[in-house]
Amino acid sequence: MSDSARNVNIDRAEVSKFDEIAFRWWDKQSEFKPLHDINPLRLRYIQDHVSLHGKHVVDVGCGGGILSEALAQAGAQVTGIDMAQGAIEVAQLHRLESHVDVDYLLITAEELAAQRPGTYDVVTCMEMLEHVPDPASVIQACTRLVKPGGHVFFSSLNRNMKSYVQAIIGAEYVLGMLPKGTHDYRKFIRPSELAQWSRAAGLDLLDVSGMSYNPITRHYALVRDVSVNYLATCQRSEQ
Ligand code: SAH
Repeated sequence: MSDSARNVNIDRAEVSKFDEIAFRWWDKQSEFKPLHDINPLRLRYIQDHVSLHGKHVVDVGCGGGILSEALAQAGAQVTGIDMAQGAIEVAQLHRLESHVDVDYLLITAEELAAQRPGTYDVVTCMEMLEHVPDPASVIQACTRLVKPGGHVFFSSLNRNMKSYVQAIIGAEYVLGMLPKGTHDYRKFIRPSELAQWSRAAGLDLLDVSGMSYNPITRHYALVRDVSVNYLATCQRSEQ
């Protein structure tokens, strides 16, 4: 693959949006509040499926490192990758304060997969697939990055009337939890699409679970209902 082919799967406008607000990644009252709020839940979800202790993990689309740091605190050796330079810089600065050791790189999943195939025990790719032009290519890259038998975790937003109402109208317009334009409904991903792309890449889909948000109690929970936010666990076959 040529350098340009590896770097083609980037929506520069999307990445710029994350760059512009990069300095607020660790402000728990900012537009990144929902990511901070769901972090304990998604860490628990991952740990329900794999032990992280001593594992090599790559966090694809790591942003300011909210999940990367939590994975490292749980005992993993973590590499965080993102294409927003501002996010990577903030993640590196935060590491100086938190003393949580994560290796951050400005690189695409496709490029890292070409450099380090079959390297990681666990790959995480959370809230990222709905921001790239070709999510199937990222799923393929995640599959290449993980060792045979290793696990890949994804999260995204489902695409239907309910997710449009909750994730766009509710979160961006009514509750103001996210800036308007954070998400493009058309890029939301149905679990069936994720399943199809994962299977095509060589992953078995082991579980899909929903994440629900109650705006009154401000509480997030893992639920069976996958109609809006969801998490998925995949495993690369042993061969
Ligand atoms: N995974 C993190 C951040 C989610 S926000 C978390 O859940 O806490 C989405 C992130 O994906 C942003 O940091 C954005 O810069 C990154 N991103 C978007 N397109 C990308 C691409 N092509 N390659 C790598 N990162 C990308």
